[in-house]
Amino acid sequence: MERRNFLARLGAYCAAAGLPAFALADDDHDDDRRGSTRPGGNPSTLPVTGLTGRVVVVGGGMAGAAVAKFLRLWGGAGVQVTLVEREPRYTSNILSNLVLTNTVQMSSLAFDYGKLAATYGITVVQGEASAADPVSRTLSVATASGPRTLGYDRLVVAPGIDFAYPDGLQTAAAQALVTHAWTAGPQTTTLRDQIRAMPAGGSFVMTVPPAPYRCPPGPYERACVVADWLKRNRPGSRVVVLDANPAITAERESFTRAFEQTHAGIITYVPNAPVVQVDVGARTVHTAMGPFKGDVLNVIPTNVGPKFLKDIGVANADRGFAQVDVLSYESTAAPGIHVIGDASATTQPKAGHIGNQEGKVCADAILRIFAGGAPDPAR
Ligand SMILES: Cc1cc2nc3c(=O)[nH]c(=O)nc-3n(C[C@H](O)[C@H](O)[C@H](O)COP(=O)(O)OP(=O)(O)OC[C@H]3O[C@@H](n4cnc5c(N)ncnc54)[C@H](O)[C@@H]3O)c2cc1C
Repeated sequence: MERRNFLARLGAYCAAAGLPAFALADDDHDDDRRGSTRPGGNPSTLPVTGLTGRVVVVGGGMAGAAVAKFLRLWGGAGVQVTLVEREPRYTSNILSNLVLTNTVQMSSLAFDYGKLAATYGITVVQGEASAADPVSRTLSVATASGPRTLGYDRLVVAPGIDFAYPDGLQTAAAQALVTHAWTAGPQTTTLRDQIRAMPAGGSFVMTVPPAPYRCPPGPYERACVVADWLKRNRPGSRVVVLDANPAITAERESFTRAFEQTHAGIITYVPNAPVVQVDVGARTVHTAMGPFKGDVLNVIPTNVGPKFLKDIGVANADRGFAQVDVLSYESTAAPGIHVIGDASATTQPKAGHIGNQEGKVCADAILRIFAGGAPDPAR
């Protein structure tokens, strides 16, 4: 509330002082009926702040949806927000490990973008963002009804992660047989079915990628839920956790206890075991600690920044992630472009609740900039 009041006062101050509002470039914002665009209106619940400006957000995941929402909630109706998302619906990774044991159904993890459009007046464009021109401040988007160009004053990108597949896993055919299920979706149900088809006394061999990766405790949590299910449904089975890192990377005490006590004799934990190659036919993962054969392989590849970051000139950190100023999440390579969520390289973990917080800090910084000020140095 404090922040909201502050922004309202700041907006009113700007209007009264005649500070320049951010110009609205003449793009195709009015052409909202093409493709699967969901037009945003100005719901009466939005505050009147006097702020104006245009923000385009790429990626409607946990970080992107948050920044879009808070830009409108705090900035008010004069701040136009367009969200570009390639998928018609978002599938949450959170709780997706429980799909593997049939405790949770995939359908309960799916969300659409109707509420962002209806409640917050965000224009949602379904399409793939491919390039940004920092001079004209425009974003190119491929939609089902053809290419579009969206103008912006500030661009926020939150495209998540991509994967660098090891040798043996680089074809779509190999990836269909050995899944990562580290982006919830069809791979999650494939892996669930593979686990269900395991014989009693079988082995589930999974890998943990080198840090930093999305959801630090997630792989160890997966090992535990699969071990628990196998114990009850496929007696005598084993889970082998091949960790590229020298030790458990998150909640070490809890997972050590889980591996050595709760699931003793079922989970084998092998640190310092980065994947060298995967032999899909022989169902074997070759690692620095030797080969491991399993009835089911679950290889979570090294997480990298999506190619889109490189395409727009912000992939200036290790593995193609984006370096940012954490007061605003503005790229250190491309002024006017902010990178939030798993795609940014910070000391914070790559997690949904962190992406949500980054979205709020970024929204606050952009609104302060729209008001003629600077990001809050105390963030
Ligand atoms: C098994 C598992 C369990 C997890 N559990 C938790 C948990 O309990 N708590 C927690 O906080 N986190 C958890 N996480 C982590 C969390 O899911 C991620 O950190 C979070 O989703 C990151 O949010 P994001 O917005 O950066 O990326 P994403 O959620 O991946 O969203 C990125 C979006 O961008 C879109 N996109 C990408 N490129 C383009 C483009 N060029 N054009 C248009 N759209 C594009 C994608 O379609 C996607 O919708 C878990 C992760 C996994 C794998």
